[in-house]
Amino acid sequence: MNEAQWQADLQHARQQRLFNNVAAGSVNQVLEAFHARELEAGEILLSPFNRNEHLYLLVKGRLRVYLGSPDNQPVGTLKVGDCAGEISLIDNQPPSAYVVASEPSRVLRLHRSALIGLFEQSPDLMHNLLSLLCERVRTGNRSLLDSEQNANVDSLTGAYNRRWLEHVFDRESTRCAFNRQPLSMLMLDVDHFKAYNDQHGHLAGDYALSLVAQTLRGQLRPKDSLIRYGGEEFVILLPEIGEQEARGIGERLRLALQHIPSFYAPIGVLPGVTLSIGLAQMRHQDSLPSLVARADSALYRAKQQGRNCLCG
Ligand code: GH3
Ligand code: MG
Ligand code: MG
Repeated sequence: MNEAQWQADLQHARQQRLFNNVAAGSVNQVLEAFHARELEAGEILLSPFNRNEHLYLLVKGRLRVYLGSPDNQPVGTLKVGDCAGEISLIDNQPPSAYVVASEPSRVLRLHRSALIGLFEQSPDLMHNLLSLLCERVRTGNRSLLDSEQNANVDSLTGAYNRRWLEHVFDRESTRCAFNRQPLSMLMLDVDHFKAYNDQHGHLAGDYALSLVAQTLRGQLRPKDSLIRYGGEEFVILLPEIGEQEARGIGERLRLALQHIPSFYAPIGVLPGVTLSIGLAQMRHQDSLPSLVARADSALYRAKQQGRNCLCG
């Protein structure tokens, strides 16, 4: 690399967050210890299989961060001014992730021995590095939360999935039993949905399912859970609600859908759908499967009685 380029990189590096409030003398000392390294697109800078002894400061290009394998979706992107390698540098463990250049890039590399020496001279440098590290932890926690939420939510309807039902049933059944409160379950199934798909297309069916979920959700309390139990089947868990009251709620939900004869979807105006509903109140010895089985047989009776009605 030519001298002018090197000086430009150093000048660029001086302005980065790592050096905020760090005395110019210390910055210059750090920069002297840096070495430049060019990366080609696709080149792996850090990998859990190679011990890391350096802190890297990105001065050109872009790096992507991958967990598990570089073939997975990236979990983050590092831009000019960001650091890489600080976690493994501090805890002296192998890197926690793959860091790969997604385009031709240049990093400045500092050996850990030089950095540790400089920490003693410049607490601000240590502070900046720690705040970069904290940002990394927070971003990681946020994406963990996002993926946890995604793992519990059905992407078509936004309703919770069965995994969540197991979790919420454990919690709510224990809480309601402890407080001597009832708990009820509604099982809802769209009527003649196969015919709806056949007549209007599968995409129309998807919009109808979204409409059902949205209509049901709009009628529930925050503590009620709407779960997409299967294809066109939903379960609603109603904590602190006994059979009588649950019947009223179920009827209200059924009528809410019955009163939508048609709705607007991105593919045009589509006819509405109706629901059959089975109701069961939790008994003392109930497990989730036994409560679901009673709600399901009540639903079966509602279908037998001609659909668009509630049994149980
Ligand atoms: P019933 O009134 O007895 O419930 O009749 P049905 O036609 O609704 O019941 P059946 O179980 O025969 O058919 C369910 C249909 O639901 C078949 C399946 O293609 C459709 N379905 C399940 N999941 C989805 C989905 O995610 N999107 C769409 N569009 N259709 C779905
Ligand atoms: Mg069904
Ligand atoms: Mg059905």
